[in-house]
Amino acid sequence: MGKRKNKHGYLLSIRNRIFVFAVLVTAIPSLSMGLLLQNMLQTTLEEKVEQRFVDSAQIMEREICLWLKKRVYDLTVFSNASIVSEAATAYLKIPEESADDSKNRLQNIKILETYLSTLQHQFKDYVRIFVLSRTGSVIAASQSSGRDRPFPFPDDYIEQISDRQWFKGNVYIDPRDKSPLLLIGLPLFLDQFYEYETLLAIEVRLTGLLPLLDSAKFGDAGNWTYESLVDVRTGRQFLYGRGTKKVLNEINLSPSGDRQMLREYTNGLGERLMGLVVPFRELEWGLFIAENYEKAFSGMIHARHRNIIIICCFSVLMGIVAYLLTRQIMVPLSALTRGAERVAEGDLDVRLPVRRNDEIGFATTVFNDMVAKLKLSQTKLEQLATTDSLTGLNNRKQVMSILHDHYAYYRRYATAFSVLMLDVDHFKVVNDTYGHQAGDTVLKQVAEIFNENLRNVDSAGRYGGEEFLVILAESGVDESIQAAERIRKAVASHIFTHEEQKIRVHISVGIGRIQKQDRDEQKVVSRADMALYRAKDEGRNRVVYQADDDQ
Ligand code: GH3
Ligand code: MG
Ligand code: MG
Repeated sequence: MGKRKNKHGYLLSIRNRIFVFAVLVTAIPSLSMGLLLQNMLQTTLEEKVEQRFVDSAQIMEREICLWLKKRVYDLTVFSNASIVSEAATAYLKIPEESADDSKNRLQNIKILETYLSTLQHQFKDYVRIFVLSRTGSVIAASQSSGRDRPFPFPDDYIEQISDRQWFKGNVYIDPRDKSPLLLIGLPLFLDQFYEYETLLAIEVRLTGLLPLLDSAKFGDAGNWTYESLVDVRTGRQFLYGRGTKKVLNEINLSPSGDRQMLREYTNGLGERLMGLVVPFRELEWGLFIAENYEKAFSGMIHARHRNIIIICCFSVLMGIVAYLLTRQIMVPLSALTRGAERVAEGDLDVRLPVRRNDEIGFATTVFNDMVAKLKLSQTKLEQLATTDSLTGLNNRKQVMSILHDHYAYYRRYATAFSVLMLDVDHFKVVNDTYGHQAGDTVLKQVAEIFNENLRNVDSAGRYGGEEFLVILAESGVDESIQAAERIRKAVASHIFTHEEQKIRVHISVGIGRIQKQDRDEQKVVSRADMALYRAKDEGRNRVVYQADDDQ
């Protein structure tokens, strides 16, 4: 029994299980909802960012086309100057062999080059202006420094011209100041024979496009938005917006992939960027736009933190609710368990407080009722075991046990007591005359007379048949004799009635007193017995006191 331990401390106690359940029930849906929302938010934000990038790339493309058309327009104006067509025509018509002609030829070229130089000085973005042959070799060039530097001449210039009346080459880098350069040209229409024989071209510095890349036009976002122009065939960036070169130039863009798709980039500075390359529709260029990740998605990152905090708060709250709920169940349940343990150990005085009107309150009430009923039946059993069923007096075993207690008390405190042995005289005759039932009634009424004439401290018991034993606690000889006489007279004067029959009986009483030398309680009983024998012998209906064993 002592081994039975309550298991509240264990990992799998009901309390812990409910607690874990509550936390899971809160955390799982909250987490999955949070993740779902997070994904939705991210997708929407990415789409928004992507759309913003594509929109600004389209604006950029329009402006770059305008810028190029402006350059082409300049070229058209230059080519319409009569000095150009005349010099070129003269150059082409004069065969190279003749010496005179070659002098003329050189003169023409000189005139042409002076004109080109004048033009070139007027435009600060124009590095060189050329008149080129159909193979791209220089016929005349402006007098600027580095006029003999090579430049890439496009193979497909004829197709370009037939498409849009002008052509442009690939972007290349000025070896002197590292700025990106571009060759733009158009055919000089001399007359029907010399069509496409000569071309007018300018080498233009693309830094003129820089104001277009100025991120200030993005408003607030400008501080963390970076832009560069990209050659989409090679993936090479050739022109960076102001202050963005150091952020973007370490990023390798693949020539064909990643286009029109927002993705993450990291540059050499360890900065996380979200960006995409938007290819232009009319040029082989594209715009690379990237934004600082934290800045671009700050709203989302905040929302994520908020979600985490909300989920944590919810889980903690549910944990507390679960804890309080389990406490409501566990506290009365452990009270019940402790109560049951006490009952099992034999304590039937357990009563648990009923504080609630729910199932547990009901269970507690049932438990209390059960314990009360157990207690009642135990009391009844005890009574049955100690009481004589006919008279309601103590039975022989019980009265002998009480006597033993008196003896023990006497031994300890020397409080002397007397024992009366009482026997109904000629009871056989009562039985024979009035019947056994009547005899029983007499015995019952005799017991009542005893009870009426005894003190609370005295005890009466049925010793056997029609013989009774009474213990008079703490009483002297005289008191004992008086008590015995009182009882004897009460019986003798009483008219017993059974089924309208009137019966008279009397009793004989023997008195024995406890003596110092007595080794047990049997001695005093036999002393009283002896006195009773004498009372019978001396004629019945009398009290005899036996002072000690010898008399
Ligand atoms: P004495 O004066 O010598 O005591 O005579 P007595 O007849 O009373 O003595 P005896 O011992 O000869 O008879 C006792 C009778 O009591 C015998 C028995 O049938 C009767 N008796 C014993 N117990 C009961 C009982 O419970 N009910 C009834 N009705 N009679 C009982
Ligand atoms: Mg008798
Ligand atoms: Mg008898």
